[in-house]
Amino acid sequence: MKIVLLGPPGAGKGTQAKQISNDYNIPHISTGDMFRKNISEKTELGIKAKGYMDKGLLVPDELTIDIVKDRLSNEDCKNGFLLDGFPRTVKQAEALDSFLTEPIDTALLIEVPRDNILERMTGRRVCPKCGASYHIKFNPSKIEMKCDVCGSELIQRKDDSVETVAERLDVYYKQTEPLVEYYKSKNVLCTVDGTKDINIVFEDIKDVLGRN
Ligand code: ADP
Ligand code: ADP
Ligand code: ZN
Repeated sequence: MKIVLLGPPGAGKGTQAKQISNDYNIPHISTGDMFRKNISEKTELGIKAKGYMDKGLLVPDELTIDIVKDRLSNEDCKNGFLLDGFPRTVKQAEALDSFLTEPIDTALLIEVPRDNILERMTGRRVCPKCGASYHIKFNPSKIEMKCDVCGSELIQRKDDSVETVAERLDVYYKQTEPLVEYYKSKNVLCTVDGTKDINIVFEDIKDVLGRN
């Protein structure tokens, strides 16, 4: 199963991706996580990407497309994969189509209105080690500021500040939302209501994937 997750920052893509990846046994590929790993390892790519990410801007397509192409050529992607945070531009979507031998099965849009996003993002806490995502109010970790999965100390992402979130939302509606039409025209778009409880959203996703 080849799945692309769509939705604004804070829609719950990462949260749902972890569950889908476990249930369907397909690798969860997050370009945001890949960039953050490069930043923490101070690679050349990480140094270049950081400037854009801190401002809430997209990393240029030239730096993004190749890392995904590389990752998808790994053996573990043979039977499918779940892309989270890629594609984010029409150019990235076209590149993805060009390097797949078969088209993707489902583009899953997690719909959350703009008004809900700020509270989601500013309350988000993440595990820098395993990428798990928590929320101080909606999905707190069992022990305060410790990851349930791996026990690491949780952090607040630098780009989850009020100012940067506003920029990221603008970027989403300008550059990424056109992908909804892109995948609709290819008849692979499915939509779930992302405002419901985390577990209910996951049930809805399983329903949708079961039908496709
Ligand atoms: P994305 O990967 O789309 O940016 P995340 O999965 O990191 O989004 O979720 C953003 C924030 O919202 C996190 O703090 C997460 O715990 C919280 N969250 C995710 N899904 C829901 C939901 N259905 N209801 C309330 N909060 C949610
Ligand atoms: P979110 O969980 O809020 O959706 P991500 O972790 O997916 O955020 O992405 C964080 C940042 O990494 C983005 O704001 C952007 O700067 C960069 N990034 C991630 N994926 C891409 C991509 N496909 N194209 C360009 N930039 C990206
Ligand atoms: Zn963890």
